[in-house]
Amino acid sequence: MADIESFLKDLKMLEIHLPYSVKLIFELKSRFNLKQIHLKELLEIIRADNSEAEIMRAFIYEKIKEYLNACTDCPLHLSDSCTQKVPGEGCLNSPLMLIGEGPGFDEDKLGRPFVGRAGQLLTTILNKLDINRQKVYISNVVKCRPPMNRTPYARETKACSRNLELELTFIAPKVIIALGSVPLNYFKPGSSIMRERGKWIYTRDIWIMPTFHPAYILRQQGKALNKTKWDVWDDFNKALNKVRELCPEYSFN
Ligand code: SF4
Repeated sequence: MADIESFLKDLKMLEIHLPYSVKLIFELKSRFNLKQIHLKELLEIIRADNSEAEIMRAFIYEKIKEYLNACTDCPLHLSDSCTQKVPGEGCLNSPLMLIGEGPGFDEDKLGRPFVGRAGQLLTTILNKLDINRQKVYISNVVKCRPPMNRTPYARETKACSRNLELELTFIAPKVIIALGSVPLNYFKPGSSIMRERGKWIYTRDIWIMPTFHPAYILRQQGKALNKTKWDVWDDFNKALNKVRELCPEYSFN
């Protein structure tokens, strides 16, 4: 442990900023004495159904929060609307990850993603699909609440990619539901959610299903509301069927 700590300190002195995922791989290997193991093997160990893997997942989650809390990579954390960082939450070995745009008022207040009205709607959709919310991993592209809930700027999503990439590395989802335009454009820049929703994107060995953000559903009325609900329902079903095809052994209950 002392070796890795002094190595990381040296890098810091030299102003070399490792991606968080690389930093955590070093720390994990050192902490659990896994020196000769490659990332693929490491991920298999972490995903195992045993108590040691559970301890490792808890260690990883604590590190995700520790790096995030120390993050000053963009000015969003200085905004009056941001009182705390909001990490992703859920099951670290879930094959399904849901990614939204950024925290809103309620999320900022509670320090948890998707807990306001839009979050309650998301939980309802998951429950109707017989998915326990605790059995998926839910996160956002940016982890600090933007002023007046505005859309994060490109430079902010780029800065915060260090945090999202860390989550993506260790959760290694098979399927992602991209909730709205910001996460869609994270994976496929220059896209329109109106054109791309419901169409699979396959990149980085992950199947990505873009759909509307629950907050968008809440803004609809009349016939548009009905259509939007059915569109989102179809998209979630497609994503769930893909997870079942790829990981039939995984239980969402
Ligand atoms: S939004 Fe992301 S990159 Fe910007 S300060 Fe917050 S955690 Fe760091």
